[in-house]
Amino acid sequence: MPSERLYYTNSYLTQMEARVVAASEDGLRVTLDRTVFYPSSGGQPNDLGTLNGVAIVDAIDEGGAILHVLASPLTETAVRGVVSWQRRYDHMQQHTGQHLLSAVFEELFGIPTLSFRMGEESSTIELGAKELSPEQIDTAILHAAELARANPLIIVTFEDAAQARGLRKATEREGILRIVEIPGIDRSACGGTHVAALAEILPLQIREVEKVRGNARVGFVCGNRAIRRAQSDLRALTRTAQSLGTSLENVEALVVAISQRLAEAEKLRQRFETEAATRAGLDLYAGTSVSSDGIRRRLASEAIIDELARTKAKSFISQPGGVLLMHGADSVLVACSADSGINAGALLKQALTKFGARGGGSPTFAQGNLPDVLLIEDLKRQLGL
Ligand SMILES: [Zn+2]
Repeated sequence: MPSERLYYTNSYLTQMEARVVAASEDGLRVTLDRTVFYPSSGGQPNDLGTLNGVAIVDAIDEGGAILHVLASPLTETAVRGVVSWQRRYDHMQQHTGQHLLSAVFEELFGIPTLSFRMGEESSTIELGAKELSPEQIDTAILHAAELARANPLIIVTFEDAAQARGLRKATEREGILRIVEIPGIDRSACGGTHVAALAEILPLQIREVEKVRGNARVGFVCGNRAIRRAQSDLRALTRTAQSLGTSLENVEALVVAISQRLAEAEKLRQRFETEAATRAGLDLYAGTSVSSDGIRRRLASEAIIDELARTKAKSFISQPGGVLLMHGADSVLVACSADSGINAGALLKQALTKFGARGGGSPTFAQGNLPDVLLIEDLKRQLGL
């Protein structure tokens, strides 16, 4: 049996007396003959509140009957329901804001709304447009605010779907439609909760525009949410400015300048590190004695064999007759100058195979895993170290 939805005709009703018409055995899910609780649907989350003092954790629309999910079992059949007003009113503001914004994007730019979702932080409408310019956003938000300030009363009517005219978005529903109308602005078939007068949604703020599925998705906030977000944004920006010792007006330019300087400094740091690693490779070579066969053999250990360690090794073998065995915590590197007569890649690959490990490289430069310290001993022997 469908539940009578009291919020259909009065979104401001916060309390009710009702009768339990069905309940689960555990008493945690009940259906009532009438309810003030909005179930999750159409992008709007459910209401919360209490039934005889028991907290409602969810409200679900099950084919017209509204299921109230409770935090603890309910045994009575006569109940008094109380809606959490703060959450309800917030949802009314966001939802009505959606009607207005959708109507404004349609009116100003001919852009339709494809979907709507009310989130914990901000609500979103996905628009049938690839992108929106900052000018379009500003034009839309200022126009919407102007319309809201005129404060038209919002009208709810029930009309036969076959007779209903002038809907912003065509509906496939049949039978009686609940139509929410902001006179002169919007007429939509909608089952949600809305404010009674449009100015109640103010202030209105578009937070961000993202690209989703190739469409522009607009995030917005209305009413107290918008006030709270604006206040917290301002506080964060003020703290940022204070920490940088500048004013609110100059903080953006300063942050951009700092980011650029940081990127340049990072580039410079990488260049210096590479230069230092190249020098270290040459120093290592110079500090290695020459054997009777004219080869300079060297064993070196590094914490990890990273790009800088590889640069050092390459620098070592850029000189004649260099043979370097480098090992890190979990990898090993063999580098041999082109004139050394040793094929680093073939030698390392063969040694690794004995230990069931993998790796390899070119005749002058090879790297692999270090499965066992005995591998180092094996390589030392082969390289004459
Ligand atoms: Zn609506």
